[in-house]
Amino acid sequence: MKFERLNPMTGAVASTAEAMQAVDIPAIAARAAGAFPAWAAMGPNARRAVLMKAAAALEARADAFVEAMMGEIGATKGWALFNLGLAASMVREAAALTTQISGEVIPSDKPGCVAMALREPVGVILGIAPWNAPIILGVRAIAVPLACGNAVILKASEQCPRTHALIIDAFAEAGFPEGVVNVVTNAPKDAADVVGALIDAPEVKRINFTGSTAVGRIIATRAAQHLKPCLLELGGKAPLIVLEDADLDEAVKAAAFGAFMNQGQICMSTERIIVVDAVADAFAEKFKAKVSSMAVGDPREGTTPLGAVVDAKTVAHCQSLIDDALAKGAQLLTGGETTHNVLMPAHVVAGVTQDMKLFRDESFGPVVGVIRARDEAHAIELANDTEYGLSAAVFTRDTARGLRVARQIKSGICHVNGPTVHDEAQMPFGGVGASGYGRFGGKAGIDSFTELRWITMETQPGHYPI
Ligand code: NAD
Repeated sequence: MKFERLNPMTGAVASTAEAMQAVDIPAIAARAAGAFPAWAAMGPNARRAVLMKAAAALEARADAFVEAMMGEIGATKGWALFNLGLAASMVREAAALTTQISGEVIPSDKPGCVAMALREPVGVILGIAPWNAPIILGVRAIAVPLACGNAVILKASEQCPRTHALIIDAFAEAGFPEGVVNVVTNAPKDAADVVGALIDAPEVKRINFTGSTAVGRIIATRAAQHLKPCLLELGGKAPLIVLEDADLDEAVKAAAFGAFMNQGQICMSTERIIVVDAVADAFAEKFKAKVSSMAVGDPREGTTPLGAVVDAKTVAHCQSLIDDALAKGAQLLTGGETTHNVLMPAHVVAGVTQDMKLFRDESFGPVVGVIRARDEAHAIELANDTEYGLSAAVFTRDTARGLRVARQIKSGICHVNGPTVHDEAQMPFGGVGASGYGRFGGKAGIDSFTELRWITMETQPGHYPI
């Protein structure tokens, strides 16, 4: 049985994929578990070599990835190629980690006892990835788990099965032993059953999930019934603070990029710009000018910074947040009509306050709220008034002040004088609160995808009390 993904702009069939069912899952989990021991036993340089080939095989598919992402999610070519570049870098970083999965020798009080902490592969790891940054997040779900010697199952997004399948093609070409890398695709209506069966499969030992907070809760609850650890990368409502001594031109550039790259459909997207009163008017004027120059258009033509959003539901959701804010007294600085169902222009809403939905609910679309703060302390208070805590940013010419402010913001990530949207393969990436828990990236990824064991070796005869 197959299901179709339709192009959000044209309604034409963008891709078809197998509509797997819950009953298909046990065989896939068994296949992965069967392949695990041999892969886990391979030396670090042998695993590294395969991962390096996978990075090259990904890059060799650039044209296919661009076509798939434009068709399935309305992405611009720039976003597709950025995805590919970072994803290949993540695979190379994972390859570099294979010799860094180290342990330690811990002093023991027991005479003659050598005590070690060793990291070992876990088994089969399930990675569930969303559509919005599909190559980056699909690759992230499996690269470090593989580097650590695990077998993997990638649960592809229903919105971009072709893009996710291209990742699996590239990994297959790289020469992973049969059964080490697996993919599951399903029709949207079967998501809960299929994901449930994957979490329940006894062979699956850990789960990583990138997606919405609502589904993250469902997954963590199901995993908890089996006492299986989860890594959750969920939604966000990233604040960008502009203090009175900020370089306003830099702040404007970063805010425009952070709010509207990929039409605001990034978990780190700038959702709230918090500006202190002293520079609020000057910032608003410059920001309005910048955003007004950022047009939306057909991503296939590749002439505009903004392309299509993923579906008409996103437009309706963003519009409801805007309407609520305007009804409660906010002002629209710039916006416009949506055309072709999904070509929504960049919207900036000023005068946003804590009672508005736009202050609290993730838009995950091309709308950003501007909020006024009295001073630094008030800006920090507003930034922290959210259930989310993934990324954040603060702009000030006094970098020491910026660091002090950054350390008071409750988020996994914060950038001083940089945009909220920033990801690199080697960085510890993750959030707090409703943005989830656990970290991808670099050495933090090794902790997430290995089992830490305590092993001792006695080197002299033992003395026992009984
Ligand atoms: P989503 O949560 O709707 O879907 C993600 C996955 O969950 C899909 O593969 C789907 O099969 C599965 N799913 C859906 N319903 C389910 C159910 N009832 N039970 C079990 N599984 C189910 O997310 P999305 O729309 O694909 O992605 C957008 C969200 O992802 C946004 O909230 C965004 O902030 C978040 N996100 C987070 C990060 C991060 O790193 N923190 C990165 C990108 C996106």
